[in-house]
Amino acid sequence: MQTDPTTDVASQPVQRVVIAGGGTAGWMVAAALSKTLGKRLDIKLIESDEISTVGVGEATIPTLMTFHRLLEINEQEFMAATQATFKLGISFENWRDVGEDYIHSFGVTGKDHWTAGFQHFWLKGRERGLARDYGDYCMELQAAAAHRFAHLPRGGMNYAFHMDAGLYARYLRGFSERFGVQRIEGKIVDVQRDATGTSIRSLRLESGVELEGDLFIDCTGFRALLIGQTLGVDYEDWSQWLHCDRAVALQTASVGPAVPYTRSIARDAGWQWRIPLQHRVGNGLVYSSRHLDDDAATRTLLSNVEGEVLTQPRVIRFQPGQRRQTWRGNCVAIGLASGFLEPIESTSIHLIQRGIVRLMQMFPAAGIRQVDIDEYNNQTRAEIEHIRDFIILHYHVTNRQDTAFWRGCREMAVPASLRHRIELFRESGRVFRVPNELFAENSWIQVMLGQGLVPRQHHPVADLMGDDELSAFLGGIRSAVQATVQRLPAHQAYVDQYCRRT
Ligand code: FAD
Repeated sequence: MQTDPTTDVASQPVQRVVIAGGGTAGWMVAAALSKTLGKRLDIKLIESDEISTVGVGEATIPTLMTFHRLLEINEQEFMAATQATFKLGISFENWRDVGEDYIHSFGVTGKDHWTAGFQHFWLKGRERGLARDYGDYCMELQAAAAHRFAHLPRGGMNYAFHMDAGLYARYLRGFSERFGVQRIEGKIVDVQRDATGTSIRSLRLESGVELEGDLFIDCTGFRALLIGQTLGVDYEDWSQWLHCDRAVALQTASVGPAVPYTRSIARDAGWQWRIPLQHRVGNGLVYSSRHLDDDAATRTLLSNVEGEVLTQPRVIRFQPGQRRQTWRGNCVAIGLASGFLEPIESTSIHLIQRGIVRLMQMFPAAGIRQVDIDEYNNQTRAEIEHIRDFIILHYHVTNRQDTAFWRGCREMAVPASLRHRIELFRESGRVFRVPNELFAENSWIQVMLGQGLVPRQHHPVADLMGDDELSAFLGGIRSAVQATVQRLPAHQAYVDQYCRRT
């Protein structure tokens, strides 16, 4: 739909904000808005005890720290409240091929030269028989593999968290209420549009209460009650590239020390996650319903978990894709209401946070203008398409041909933007991060190499190093990594003493 960007969608100042939904998205929005703009806004959040949250988003990426800094959240307090552990990356098992593993870590690998990334020197070293595994040159990766962790000075350790999603929502609720957010328990049974039909006037609850607002944030999860069901914004289906459309999830008791990484274990028709928390382990199988039915998926998951099963297996259906607009009229969709790719790289909570930051940057305090809406939607779109490509890469570049699911992933046509990146790396070992892209070169390289894509050439600057110099260069980095990792305590012991200090 083409709209005139100069139009005012609503000329009155935005003072009354209504957040529909109290999952991770709803409470993250409430916390951020109340902390930053709370003094001038009237913020209400509606959630229904009858409608459960999705509750499985428990692995994060390091950007969550930026969100917590904005909120001035104390890390130890947050970790104790959410039973969190540290996360240094994701272990991809059986993805390149059955029996082969690699880790995509949050760290930086090796040292770059101004003309060429570290991978070119590593490729040259590999050709000359002087280099070890690519992961040997990354401190976070080696710490993850050794199950060790500590905070290092000057942000020397790049990490994220595994956390209990239900406890996180509860924690943010307490935070938001302290900053004036009013929580209303109740089921939304009707959404009234204004006279133009493109904005929302009010929400009616089952109790009969009617809530009016100037700005509505749709955090109702997959239901997308406001943006989808009421305003009719279409959903763009990306299942031609992302074949998984279901997950079955359950929780188990811990059987040993928590590891500082998420496990992602490829199975015949999808992959299984294991997310270790302080008090339990989150487990799930993400799968393609075209290749596996729910009962078989549940059996596969149950036969591949460790420890006592604490909850009933729960099947979650989703459609990989994105809403064509995430802001229409006076309604902004954040969280699952705005779209969902799939959980492989733990990007969903990050996208919630990005939606919040973008909304705050463009907050329509003096009235809602179409030009802001267009900018918001364009930025959201560009950001998610890069993430989509990165996720497709994991499935498409694989040597697996053992099942119909994996053959389908290998053989599918991928977006032109991703095809170009794969070819560029294959031919020359080059990767360039696009402005505002979430995943940097280091992530792309770790996953491309990890999935078995080895470049045909390296940058000629690497040839200027003789064997001795190259060997000393690579060996020096590796020794420094090993020396640091050896000094780190065991991850579980570190978590225990860190969270006891609160
Ligand atoms: P929900 O949690 O579904 O919350 C919806 C809220 O809306 C609830 O409070 C509900 O009560 C309320 N509601 C709905 N309808 C009504 C109504 N009519 N009246 C009143 N209230 C209503 N993300 C990550 O970052 N990392 C991960 O590891 C990860 N793993 C995932 C695994 C799976 C299988 C799935 C499906 C998602 C995963 N995600 C992950 C995504 C993550 O779970 C979500 O982004 C996050 O939980 C936000 O969900 P939400 O708040 O948008 O929706």
